[in-house]
Amino acid sequence: MDCHPAQEAILAAIDGDRRSDDAAAHVRECAACREFDTIQRAQDATLVTAILRPRLNPAFRPRLREAIRASAPVRGRTWLPDIAYVAGAVAGVALAFASSPYFRDTTPGAVVLVGVLGYVFQIALTDRRD
Ligand SMILES: [Zn+2]
Repeated sequence: MDCHPAQEAILAAIDGDRRSDDAAAHVRECAACREFDTIQRAQDATLVTAILRPRLNPAFRPRLREAIRASAPVRGRTWLPDIAYVAGAVAGVALAFASSPYFRDTTPGAVVLVGVLGYVFQIALTDRRD
């Protein structure tokens, strides 16, 4: 391992990541990385003692949970697009049968098949969009 990835591993370890065996071996053998490791650990220890963590009001977490719960999107009416599709399909088929002699010879099974395929196509497009 080279110095650059070893030093990245040193910084990641300070952030809580596990140091790989390769990085640990490099730090043992490389004086520059050992010094970098020592300096980074000392700076981290200084920062930990110098920065005061703010104390949260005990009511903060319950209020935050309540605010998250209140802002959650309403999951009702997800069936509306399905109802709209079925209503549109029924209206379209009725209009086609009423206005065109071509559809009078079409079997109802073919009409249902086209409707089902259209519905599946709509679901596929909706899932891709989400
Ligand atoms: Zn090195």
